[in-house]
Amino acid sequence: MHLNESPFSPSPAVRERVLEYLDKLNLYHIKDLEEKFTNSLSRYVGVPTEYLSVYPGSSEALVAILRYCRRRGLKPITVWPSFHGVEEFANVEGVNLGYVRLVPDSFELNLVELARKGGPDRALYIVNPNNPTSNMLFEDFDTLEFLLRKFGLVVVDEAYYEFSGFTVVRKVLEEEKLVVVRTFSKAFSLAGARVGYVVANPDVGRELRGLEVAFSTPVTSIAAALGALEDLDYVRRVVAEVVRLRDELKELLRSEGLRVLDSRTNFLFVKTPVKGSEVARELAKRGVRVRAYSDPDIEYFIRVSIASRECNEKFIDALRQVLALNPRIVNT
Ligand code: PMP
Repeated sequence: MHLNESPFSPSPAVRERVLEYLDKLNLYHIKDLEEKFTNSLSRYVGVPTEYLSVYPGSSEALVAILRYCRRRGLKPITVWPSFHGVEEFANVEGVNLGYVRLVPDSFELNLVELARKGGPDRALYIVNPNNPTSNMLFEDFDTLEFLLRKFGLVVVDEAYYEFSGFTVVRKVLEEEKLVVVRTFSKAFSLAGARVGYVVANPDVGRELRGLEVAFSTPVTSIAAALGALEDLDYVRRVVAEVVRLRDELKELLRSEGLRVLDSRTNFLFVKTPVKGSEVARELAKRGVRVRAYSDPDIEYFIRVSIASRECNEKFIDALRQVLALNPRIVNT
């Protein structure tokens, strides 16, 4: 329960499409499949195909964006805490990443600090709803416009869009400083297929694609994502079920006296009475993996991905045992 994957298999439509293209794996790419996929994605996202670029996972899209920043002389800045991956990718790329802390404890955007750290040569990365804190960082276009005025580029990572229902993609059509990143890894149940995409102004998209190795998204992964888009009812059912399981688990955790943030994602962010790393270590001994953090702002939290009902129950049982180890832990 530490990677925010979907607990459900992908739709049967995914299997069908992958099987259809298995015998074509001798080819680097299949124009007809790519067209079908981008047309289908364009309908789903609500932007013309030239605004879309496909990547082998949104992680690779973020790497391309960091390269773009370096090329364009933009200093990337992330709000923090945020998706830990972006820090790793910046390290690998040798890019110096700046940070703007969220307001401690409420985990809201610090707009004063953001304005101070802004500038036309700065690129802002923001995950909305945020990982790991699970809350929306903004849900209005005024905040987005404020950020667009302050920064040379604003990258909004909507990895959990299907769970939150809030998106800024339509704004990309009028604002070339805005880039949206999304993934098939969460609501579409396709983490192992590695498919993500960028919604950006066509010129920006073209430059971004030039920073990626050719044919990097496998034929069968594109086929899988096409299948997933052909069965959106299935995706809606997955999202509804994950949300139901999430809210059930949230109530159970709250009834244990724990603080749990209201989540708009497929995971929960839970305050722990002792360091999250200690809780995570004890849970691991009991066969449950969750994520903990060394960052001082969130070292007393764990992040728990919503799993099957059976796994969620195993988690809560194990957590009760862990909390019982230390009398300080109850009702803090
Ligand atoms: N962005 C965010 C906010 C994420 O949480 C994740 C996965 N945990 C990713 C990007 C990467 O997703 P992927 O590479 O599987 O598309």
